[in-house]
Amino acid sequence: MKKTYLIANWKMQLNKSDSVRLAVEVAKEYQDPKEDLEIVLAPTFTAISDVRRKLKGSAIKLAAQNVFYHNKGSYTGEVSPSQLKELEVEYVIIGHSERRQNLNETDEEVNRKVEATLENGLTPIVCIGETMEEKQDGKADVVIIKQINKALADIKLKDEQKLIIGYEPIWVIGTGKAVDPKEAEHAIEVIKYNLMEHFSEEMIDKHISIIYGGSVDAYNINDFLKINLIEGALVGGASMTADKFIPIIKKIK
Ligand code: PEP
Repeated sequence: MKKTYLIANWKMQLNKSDSVRLAVEVAKEYQDPKEDLEIVLAPTFTAISDVRRKLKGSAIKLAAQNVFYHNKGSYTGEVSPSQLKELEVEYVIIGHSERRQNLNETDEEVNRKVEATLENGLTPIVCIGETMEEKQDGKADVVIIKQINKALADIKLKDEQKLIIGYEPIWVIGTGKAVDPKEAEHAIEVIKYNLMEHFSEEMIDKHISIIYGGSVDAYNINDFLKINLIEGALVGGASMTADKFIPIIKKIK
């Protein structure tokens, strides 16, 4: 059974003690896990160990917000997939628009990170999405197709591996105004169709999930999740306090 994903991206907004406190509150609320819902928290690197300790015995999973594509070597400041695995991280957000835009992360780096993540038994959450300018120029579909093709170039999925694609229109991230769910549905149709260039339909159905991200909150979550093609949500702002995040969990039917 494929699960619905609810992924909390805490960015560099929460320090270690904030992250631990919030993880504890979420875990307390989610003591009776739903079989078909996967809640994933992505704290900043420095909080991962402590959050993991607090999540022991809970069904809540951990993600990292980034990874490097080598496991070992003289790469000052980087964190490898195997080091994340050691911390019992299961998912990695790759190619978030904030990294692409502010830190010049390229499609080629995203591709190498996806490959390294899968090789180390972690699940990549690959973020793609168009800017407002690209949308206004009528290029949104072309942009997301290109991002998918580059991120997944030469990527093969083995039977036990999973892949998550996060469609995140950059122009709504952090604005408090999500896109019309129908618009997200169109983009996700484009993504799904394009995935067939890379994987069999059976592989896509069983192992790949496409989720939406961009100003999701407790009020709109179900507008997205009721669309068949949308298999979860990546949440930034509304995941960073218990009073906003817990209602999202409760709303998911
Ligand atoms: C994000 O940054 O991935 C995100 C979805 O942020 P927000 O929910 O704040 O738009």
